[in-house]
Amino acid sequence: MKDLLNDITSINVINTICIIMYIAASIFFILGIKKLGKANTARKGNLLSSVGMGIAVLAVLIEIATWSIVTKSGGRRVGVILLSYGLAVLAMAAGGIIGFIWARKVAMTGMPELVALFNGFGGLASFLVALSQFCSGKAVTNDAFSAITLGLTIAIGAIAFTGSIVAWGKLSGKQMFKKNMPIPNWVNGILCGVGLLGIIFYACGYASSSKRAAGASALGIIGVILTAVVFLVLGFTLVIKIGGGDMPVIISFLNALSGLAAAFAGFPIQNTVLIVSGCLVGASGLILTLIMCKAMNRKFFDLLFKSFGAKKSTAAAGEHKEPKAMSVEDAFLILEAAKNVVIIPGYGMAVAQAQHAVKELCDVLEENGCEVNFAIHPVAGRMPGHMNVLLAEANVPYEQLKTSDDINPQMSNVDVAIVIGANDVVNPAAIDDPGSPLYGMPIVNAFEARTVFVLKRGKGTGFSGIENPLFTNENTVMIYGDAKQTVSQLVVEFEN
Ligand code: NDP
Repeated sequence: MKDLLNDITSINVINTICIIMYIAASIFFILGIKKLGKANTARKGNLLSSVGMGIAVLAVLIEIATWSIVTKSGGRRVGVILLSYGLAVLAMAAGGIIGFIWARKVAMTGMPELVALFNGFGGLASFLVALSQFCSGKAVTNDAFSAITLGLTIAIGAIAFTGSIVAWGKLSGKQMFKKNMPIPNWVNGILCGVGLLGIIFYACGYASSSKRAAGASALGIIGVILTAVVFLVLGFTLVIKIGGGDMPVIISFLNALSGLAAAFAGFPIQNTVLIVSGCLVGASGLILTLIMCKAMNRKFFDLLFKSFGAKKSTAAAGEHKEPKAMSVEDAFLILEAAKNVVIIPGYGMAVAQAQHAVKELCDVLEENGCEVNFAIHPVAGRMPGHMNVLLAEANVPYEQLKTSDDINPQMSNVDVAIVIGANDVVNPAAIDDPGSPLYGMPIVNAFEARTVFVLKRGKGTGFSGIENPLFTNENTVMIYGDAKQTVSQLVVEFEN
């Protein structure tokens, strides 16, 4: 009896310690997310969030150890716990090593693909947790709420997983994901309906039985299989039809879904910190999605259920024009006379790592008495804030970075707009071609400047894969070559 009381006291103490650790982890997550909001504190934010995750993992391991106190006489139980510890350490070591090597190897321009995969793995993890709970028969803790949250975890985790794989394929230009398949909305509607039916089957399977492992009744099994398969397919069909410039919004949305799946997974396994962290990721992902929708002039509903560019493009109908090319030497003569220049950076500047050369060009132009501003489009590059981060790294003053909304009203007074490795974000088809996948997206109105220089390597299209009529405009000249080399040559011309 005395032993039992001692055990209960020990368990209570350990449980209290775990709760305190979970609260500490949640605080670290919140502080981390707050610091991620600004470029100069983002690293610290990442570190704080990692510390939070470390504490949460430790708390889970301690919780596992409490089982051994409950059944310390059972040698078999201790064996199971040691096995759990061994597997957990093995999984952490494998994941940690792969993650470390991968994160170190990935180029800055490859980050969005990596983020898309991380979202997918997050969704997959929740999906597997829910399935394993179902298979072990421990998922339902005597309430229908757990049955429904388990079904929702499977559903949302599945969509986040396959949707993110498609997003990864699109971002990395994989052939099979390149084409935007116009899956009709009714197909997705039916899939969604059937999947929800699966969740209802599972929940009813639980209600029709009084046993703890009721989820494992025939109806429950059919429900779980239906939910898993249908929502895996739905993730694919929802994202495969989205293309053009809308991928950034969809990646934020998938991020929100992976958070939501984790939050739901927290209910059946009764893990508070998973619910808190999942909600944080879900809510911040949703806020980012709505901000991106606003920036892209898209309604969230339209994005998922409307096929942009489904109408026939009017751009192809006109006569075929060739862009005019110009040498660096001639371009220098025009720039030397310019009083007002706007630089519009894009993904190509990131590929070329031209940001430092661009800052040098900005300096020599200013020394020459020219006013220089940067027009930053919200989705330029391959991740939100991509251009801001690169230009901040090159010490371009924050005040010189203007949004499209700030710069567009002055564009007709600009002597030279220098488009450096940007394409979709300056594509006028977004304004005047209702058939374009970019139609309706706000752009930087480079075409309104007196002269437009476009620095790119060749005739490559942008991320959306569509032609850009800006390049054949009368006032546009192309300066072909790697952006860093071209900009550096322009700087040399100024210095000579
Ligand atoms: P784009 O992808 O539209 O165009 C980039 C251009 O850079 C290409 O046309 C390419 O042409 C050129 N380029 C590539 N490498 C170099 C180099 N070394 N030197 C010079 N030029 C180079 O970029 P934008 O920034 O204009 O638009 C971003 C696009 O990415 C949008 O469609 C956006 O929706 C999408 N996106 C954005 C995300 C975000 O969060 N910001 C995330 C996912 C997608 P060439 O090959 O001829 O050199």
